[in-house]
Amino acid sequence: METNDSPQRSPLVGKALAGPTVSLTEARRQIDEADRALVAALRARLDAVRNIGAAKEASGTPLVNRSREAQVAGRWTELAEEAGLNPHAAGRVLREVLHWSKREQELEWQKNAPTRVRVAYQGARAANGDLAARQLMGLRRTPVDTIGLNTFDAVIAALHAGDVDYAFVPVENSIVGSIEAVNSLLLQAQLHVIDEEKWDIEHVLAAREGATLAGLRLALSHPVALRQCRNTLVDSLGLESVEVWDTAGAAEIVAASDDLTQAAVCPRGAAEVNGLVILRDDVSDHPGNWTRFLLLGTKPEKNAAGVPSRTTLSFVADHGVGSLARCLAAFENEGINLTRLSSHVLPGRPGQYGFLVDLEGDVEDEPVARALVAMRAASRQLTVLGSYPDRSRRQEMPRMKPANPARKAKAPSPAAKVTGGLQLVGGRDGAREGARELAGIPLHSKSFVLIAGPCAVESGAQIEAGAKMVREAGASLLRGGAFKPRTSTYSFQGLGMEGLDLLVSAGERHGLPVVTEVLRVADLDAIAARADVLQIGARNMQNFELLRALGRVDRPILLKRGMSATVDEWLHAAEYILAAGNRQVVLCERGIRTFETSTRATLDLAAIAVVKERTHLPVFVDPSHAAGRRELVVPLALAAAAAGADGLIVECHPDPASALCDKEQALAENDLHRLVDGLQPILAGQGRTLA
Ligand code: PEP
Ligand code: MN
Repeated sequence: METNDSPQRSPLVGKALAGPTVSLTEARRQIDEADRALVAALRARLDAVRNIGAAKEASGTPLVNRSREAQVAGRWTELAEEAGLNPHAAGRVLREVLHWSKREQELEWQKNAPTRVRVAYQGARAANGDLAARQLMGLRRTPVDTIGLNTFDAVIAALHAGDVDYAFVPVENSIVGSIEAVNSLLLQAQLHVIDEEKWDIEHVLAAREGATLAGLRLALSHPVALRQCRNTLVDSLGLESVEVWDTAGAAEIVAASDDLTQAAVCPRGAAEVNGLVILRDDVSDHPGNWTRFLLLGTKPEKNAAGVPSRTTLSFVADHGVGSLARCLAAFENEGINLTRLSSHVLPGRPGQYGFLVDLEGDVEDEPVARALVAMRAASRQLTVLGSYPDRSRRQEMPRMKPANPARKAKAPSPAAKVTGGLQLVGGRDGAREGARELAGIPLHSKSFVLIAGPCAVESGAQIEAGAKMVREAGASLLRGGAFKPRTSTYSFQGLGMEGLDLLVSAGERHGLPVVTEVLRVADLDAIAARADVLQIGARNMQNFELLRALGRVDRPILLKRGMSATVDEWLHAAEYILAAGNRQVVLCERGIRTFETSTRATLDLAAIAVVKERTHLPVFVDPSHAAGRRELVVPLALAAAAAGADGLIVECHPDPASALCDKEQALAENDLHRLVDGLQPILAGQGRTLA
């Protein structure tokens, strides 16, 4: 008969009680002690986790590191086994601890999120300085209030007086060059450069509701903007220019008057916040107009470690033979690239010149530090104004942290008939989201971009011949799939990374940036390091993990429409990418699945107009995958251009009959020339040219 104190009641209990027998009281004491040790261990672990969170925050490293997590979990399994514990049960507990740790890090990160700052700029509300400052502070994840002041002097004075945290000023423009008034302030004032922003300038012609292009008489704007649009405004539209203090100020003046014969030449955002209608999209005579702005502070701020930097410094050289060359030799000797050098007369210091230099690198890099020592000896006076993230180096841009989900559309643009949850694709605070260029090929209302190339990269010889053919036809970018999403697992799947290398080198030989498809998050960084534009295919349009991951790369994304996706679903997919921090999105209509079977898919040309009504994102059309047959590609492509698409992506092949992928729809060389010839009159009629 079993008794209550039998040590062997069941095999399981028997196992648990094996070993030296202890009293119940003693066992309970041991449990309490083990629990205390567990809690203390958790405390110590969370403290370590917080320190890691802080270090990641400082260096801009992403919070989640999956390979490190896998390593930690692997180590746990080993530890559990060594201790004679069931690794699965121990793993469950430890996974819970890991989630808790990550949550703590996130909370810590949110607590440390920068507080709201005030930034002064020159101009009226929604001037380029205002829009660019908001964009930059968004990148820095810093909530901002922008304050528009009348002059640059007033902006700098507000900074010195402590009325604002930062000043935001333009230093150079692609058309008018160095902005002298600002550069002379930089040479004299005790200021620190904290960050930079390169901002594309768009001048639209905007007037009050009811005004017509034919009825306009006056164009109001800042004199520099008027100079940049003279041919269009005066020669083509026959308008008289009226100079006012600011471009966005012109929009305010026009909005306040009931004169329907005046229009403002202003940023799109300024037209929108002032409730004006845009009569002409881009009236600039010069496409590719940009301004570089600097964010200035009174105290230096450390640039995030591991982020490519630019450094700005000023120095004074004597007026003597070779003195400037001696100063600059310091950089040459250390192999440092200068990105800007400007000279300025120093008031009250005859014979001496002040210079401003921007260079690639950080004052904390050894070559830069050595160059500065040499430079100090060669120059009369050297001041380092700051090292800050180089926002123009696309390839190595810092990885962005997740966008603040609390960002709310304050004043949705009239163009943005947004439905729930679509805040960014519709344009927020007048901001024009979407790619402005594809690897230097401008995207704007006067350009049309042709991307062409084979469906897949098949061999070095094939892509070389394809690139040559694409270049000679006048296209601007080369497409080619290295990773192919094939319906059949038995079809050619692409050459992978090797194919990508062949594509990039063929593109380089023929001066063509390349577009290629990304299928998996795991390949994203490696592809982004080589390709210029990343394509997300129809089959992946709702791969939300992939869309989110695209937020961390600084590459334009060509987002194909899913073959069964509504426009709304397509825009939501674009919103994922924008919200994750990558604004360079281009949509691509490629045909949808309908009851019609005479074409591979049904090209939805209406979607071009619908999307343009709802967003500022550029829209491309892929007639090849919609048509599925070579004969239909050119007519559909021309229709897309006529309907207002911003560009095309078409498939072609040096020898279509031998193509390993989508051979029926591949254009031959003469087809590609026919396409370009057909596009010319359509684009000319729209005032556009092939980029
Ligand atoms: C492609 O462009 O190669 C492609 C596969 O297109 P889609 O994703 O539109 O089918
Ligand atoms: Mn294809």
